[in-house]
Amino acid sequence: MDLNLNEDQKRAVYSDSRALLIVAGAGTGKTRVLTTRAARLIKENPDARYLLLTFTKKAAREMTTRVRELIEEDTKNRLYSGTFHSFCSNIIRRRSERVGLTNDFVIIDESDSLDLMKKVFSRIYSKEKIDSLIFKPKDILSLYSYARNNNQDFIEIVQRKYKYVNFEDIKKIISLYELNKKERNYLDFDDLLMYGLLAIKTLEKSPFDEVLVDEFQDTNQIQAEMLYYFYDLGSRISAVGDDAQSIYSFRGAYYENMFNFIKRLDAEKIILSSNYRSTQQILDIANSIIQSSYSSIKKELVANVRLKENVKPKLVIVSDDWEEARYVAREMQKFGEKGLKVAALYRAAYIGRNLESQLNSMGIKYSFYGGQKLTESAHAKDFMSFLRVFVNPKDEIALIRILKMFPGIGEKKAEKIKDAVISGDNLKKALSKEKNLEELNIFFDKLFKITDWHDLLELVFDFYKDIMNRLYPENYEEREEDLIKFMDMSSNYDNLVEYLEAFTLDPVEKSEFDNNNVILSTIHSAKGLEFDVVFLLSVIESVYPHFRAQSTDEIEEERRLFYVAITRAKQRLIFTFPRHSKKSRGYFAKNTISPFLREKDNYLEVFIAR
Ligand code: ATP
Ligand code: MG
Repeated sequence: MDLNLNEDQKRAVYSDSRALLIVAGAGTGKTRVLTTRAARLIKENPDARYLLLTFTKKAAREMTTRVRELIEEDTKNRLYSGTFHSFCSNIIRRRSERVGLTNDFVIIDESDSLDLMKKVFSRIYSKEKIDSLIFKPKDILSLYSYARNNNQDFIEIVQRKYKYVNFEDIKKIISLYELNKKERNYLDFDDLLMYGLLAIKTLEKSPFDEVLVDEFQDTNQIQAEMLYYFYDLGSRISAVGDDAQSIYSFRGAYYENMFNFIKRLDAEKIILSSNYRSTQQILDIANSIIQSSYSSIKKELVANVRLKENVKPKLVIVSDDWEEARYVAREMQKFGEKGLKVAALYRAAYIGRNLESQLNSMGIKYSFYGGQKLTESAHAKDFMSFLRVFVNPKDEIALIRILKMFPGIGEKKAEKIKDAVISGDNLKKALSKEKNLEELNIFFDKLFKITDWHDLLELVFDFYKDIMNRLYPENYEEREEDLIKFMDMSSNYDNLVEYLEAFTLDPVEKSEFDNNNVILSTIHSAKGLEFDVVFLLSVIESVYPHFRAQSTDEIEEERRLFYVAITRAKQRLIFTFPRHSKKSRGYFAKNTISPFLREKDNYLEVFIAR
């Protein structure tokens, strides 16, 4: 086992408290401690089972690999690691009857939820009316989700946001949305957590000796509740987190969970203070920025790494955002060629666009984190729809999606056919009434006769290829390659349901298939990661904090996001400031520097790029 740990870290790995919380700043080894702890436990208790929860599949995979390396054997049946959502889906399937579900439920992702909500709106309002409403389907969904994740009353939340709307309508919208899901056996992401909690409550004894949680500051109330239940059922709980890195409150994350955890479970608290990631110069500016935050527990980061070449972070001033892209692309190329891992981070996806096209034109290969996920692209969703209808012919969203791929089938006709299927007509009969769907009917005939699900993928691929060629002729080849990747990935799963579920819960990032030194990422997607060199783009006033952030709480969250970005850097940190930004219609707006970087001259070296 790797025992290259400092004293505090060792204490965290060997503590036998029933509840343990490690609160520590970025780069202090929280994730490393958690994996070492898991490995230590598995080694000492070969018959026990452990649950390791994280927020992304990627993190879960990396941590499992690390544990395997440490114990030098497989973790199968001893360590279950995954995201909260995938764990919930798993336990719900096993205990579906006890929570009032059947185990063939379909998980719908955020865009499916939105489609469903739009349908509900169009059932209640006319088209003109929808255009004039101050709340859109998206707003209602996000308020509803917020209310559910925080155990708050939805109507109260709506009242707080919109004073003068018809609350009876809002209630109707939600009950129709719920009814729709129930009839089709859909669970949305929030349902997964709610039913997951219910399923845990039906257990008599915890199956896990200990539950370990990374990035605890991003849990919401329901997730915290799950941990308390496991504790009551006999599990030990160990969690690591950093309140200064809480950046998901817009999704209901509640970093006070960390303090409540200590109180409620009388948890042991361990603080780590040595940072093993970044140079002192990088930490100095990170400390100074987070110190102005009123909410965080004070924890000054001290570098353990002393590089020979100690340089201050740079602030590079460029003339406009195109110049910024050119400058950053050139510099990234230089660092990349030296074999360093270099990332450009930004607040919102649109800021990375110029840089992307610049890198493309220079022929530099890069990986892309965040932004649109591969499995959320149109061709991926099309492909999955066939598989979903195979699993459940009444899967309305998937069925409508398929029908609309055919010429002459619009929303109305698709709805009609779908209604026939839902009300009991079989699929074949419903399709046979439409002459443009003959081909589809023959295809479904073949499809439903298949028994091996790998053959099924082949069949769908062959059939859909031609449709795809017709629908997306421009970049057909690229899309076809994606589909081939999807088929290859099927070897990682035991059955079709698992395969589909993985795609819905943890959309595959395009970058999972490549491994480049040059990385483009939103800050949110870079959480927990580290890079030798970090460029932070467009440090201007309307971006940091984001112009939509108005309340003190929202601005504090922006500050934490800025802190997360800075603390990804190991050796070099470079901020870029474009004096002007090109706006639509060709005129240039003058920028001012982000308030987070004002009066930081002591920590920075300022350059003007030419
Ligand atoms: P974040 O808050 O960003 O998630 P973290 O606290 O989880 O950070 P880690 O990612 O676990 O930090 O560790 C940061 C880096 O420091 C990693 O490269 C890790 O391997 C290294 N590291 C941690 N502890 C030690 C140690 N005792 N000796 C050497 N390297 C260490
Ligand atoms: Mg970490």
